[in-house]
Amino acid sequence: MGRFLIVSFEENLEKYKEISEKYNVGFELNDFYDPDVLTNSDRQEEIIAKYREIGLPDYYTMHGAFYDIILFSQEKEIVEISKKRMLTSMDIAQKIGAAAVVFHTNANPFLVNLPYLKNVVDRTVEFYKELLEKYSDINIYVENMFDDTPYVIKEIAEKLSGYDNFGVCFDYAHASISKTPVCEWIESLKGYIKHVHINDNNLRKDLHLGLGKGKINWLEFKFYYETVFKDADILIEINQPEEQKASIEYIRNLIQSNEMSYEPDVKKRPNAEEMLENIFYCMTELMTEKKFEENLSLLNELGSSIVGAERASFWYWDKKNKKYWTFAAMGNGKMIIDEKTGIVGKCIEQDETILCNDPYSMDEFNDKVDENTGYVTKSILCIPVKNSKGEVMGAFEALNKYDSRRNDIPFEEEDSRRLSLVAAFGEKTIESYLLHREAQSDELTGLKNRYAFYEFYNKNLSKYEDGKAAIIMCDIDHFKKINDTYGHNVGDLVLKEIAGKIRANVGEKDLSVRWGGEEFIIILMDKDEDEAYEFAENMRKTIQSYEFDTGSEKFNVTMSFGVDMINLKENAEINVKNVDDKLYKAKNTGRNRVIR
Ligand code: GH3
Ligand code: MG
Ligand code: MG
Repeated sequence: MGRFLIVSFEENLEKYKEISEKYNVGFELNDFYDPDVLTNSDRQEEIIAKYREIGLPDYYTMHGAFYDIILFSQEKEIVEISKKRMLTSMDIAQKIGAAAVVFHTNANPFLVNLPYLKNVVDRTVEFYKELLEKYSDINIYVENMFDDTPYVIKEIAEKLSGYDNFGVCFDYAHASISKTPVCEWIESLKGYIKHVHINDNNLRKDLHLGLGKGKINWLEFKFYYETVFKDADILIEINQPEEQKASIEYIRNLIQSNEMSYEPDVKKRPNAEEMLENIFYCMTELMTEKKFEENLSLLNELGSSIVGAERASFWYWDKKNKKYWTFAAMGNGKMIIDEKTGIVGKCIEQDETILCNDPYSMDEFNDKVDENTGYVTKSILCIPVKNSKGEVMGAFEALNKYDSRRNDIPFEEEDSRRLSLVAAFGEKTIESYLLHREAQSDELTGLKNRYAFYEFYNKNLSKYEDGKAAIIMCDIDHFKKINDTYGHNVGDLVLKEIAGKIRANVGEKDLSVRWGGEEFIIILMDKDEDEAYEFAENMRKTIQSYEFDTGSEKFNVTMSFGVDMINLKENAEINVKNVDDKLYKAKNTGRNRVIR
């Protein structure tokens, strides 16, 4: 039998102690989640002293701060306070010797857009890592609270699963009133659950009733208790001592009785109406969501749910580099494979849908990918993705169809019809993204062009009142001579190599543009004039000392630079003109120099 715990408070501690001894159950201390206590160290000492005086059971855990704890808030101060309260909780746990501390996800269930959820996950994981490392001898559990789906907590758990002292506290009662059936919660979280909270309710509100006094199916719980929660602590999360006693007896009787535990219902596949609702939901999101990657994540989500697959992803055919790569999806990184390889290769090459429920038997299947990622592919559905001219641009692939109990089942013809609906949306999204990107870049050098410069300016600088940014304009010296001496092709090569050096030196937030023939503009975000000057000087020296090689001849090239701060009150044209004046001065005072 797993370890049972009851809630304890300093007030009436004698009574909790009595129950703990009588039934051999541990405590989950509930005195320290309250901000009044967390901000009052005298009070903390007083409570700790009381526990020491009355005596603690052999095993006890603690509930950490939870009111208003939001690690992922947009308000820096809220994040700061949240971290502070969690750290205080951990310090108290250390002082009193608690084996584990429980915190809530606190994600808002009404905010279901992926950027919000992803932010919740990332920021939570970031701070938990700090806690897990700092308090490596205390277990730290994250508990589902308002969550309507296991998504957030599962993502967090996957990312923290490398820490021995991390675990999920599964609140059975919260899950019972969420929109997701308990069986699905447990399927998603089963590898991570180390702690369970139970109490009863009417399946609508979090009532913390005594066990058996509400509508939760305790025979179903018994099934999980025997299968999934074998090694977990089970906290009976009810405050009143009398109710605690009754609940302990209720659950003991149930567990010891011969009454057969009830096997949870097999989740039905979504019916047509539910499916339609999901499609409408994703389509609405797609209309409002502007960022390309987020749109694709949504399509991947929709694709996998519409056919009941474990994952789905768009593969893009990068013809220039002879590769296929996936647009990064949530939960799995970008993958790159050689063109004409794998099932994706066959699908793209032959422009045909591939439905395969035994991939390892197919010659085209590349099991190296599985080997490298540790993923086991069991079934594949792959359909070509085309642009509006009907040319294949890539493929949409769904992997591993399963039923609600995670049994593998085969893809059917019907699935390929469904997936093509989602793929059609993906085609439009990808095509407009590619067209936009093409219209913004310079073909020869791959740098951005003038259109991109104006878009960047309007997007990042026209409302950047409190920020700063520097602008550099540079031009190759006597470039005409290079063309005349070595030919136009060598001139092109010089442009490409110089563009490569610029690209390699600017940051992710910065912009590098081929402004015209052999003239470039660089915008450095958040840099002051000294920094920009230094950047230009370094570029100048790098280029001056670089030896261009035609194969038969070697030569050097120099460049002139103008450096200025962007005047954020002025428009793009005026700022370009100002820095152009500096460049002009550099040209007129001997070239191969930086003028600020
Ligand atoms: P300065 O130091 O005053 O800048 O002299 P310059 O010779 O670099 O400047 P000028 O503006 O007189 O000549 C620029 C040359 O750049 C002329 C043009 O043929 C060449 N050019 C412009 N675009 C390209 C291109 O895409 N490829 C090649 N190979 N040459 C180009
Ligand atoms: Mg020039
Ligand atoms: Mg010129």
